[in-house]
Amino acid sequence: MEIFAFSFKTTQGEKVFCCEGCKAIYKLLNEDKLLPDSDVSLSDED
Ligand SMILES: [Zn+2]
Repeated sequence: MEIFAFSFKTTQGEKVFCCEGCKAIYKLLNEDKLLPDSDVSLSDED
């Protein structure tokens, strides 16, 4: 069971969020902290 479903690694470590919305907001506000290979939302096609 994956508990931290909404998480990704940044330059400051792994960030965990309660939902996809919070993760998206963080990414918008912290684009400079995101790792190039940490974006897994590209394959989010349900
Ligand atoms: Zn949330």
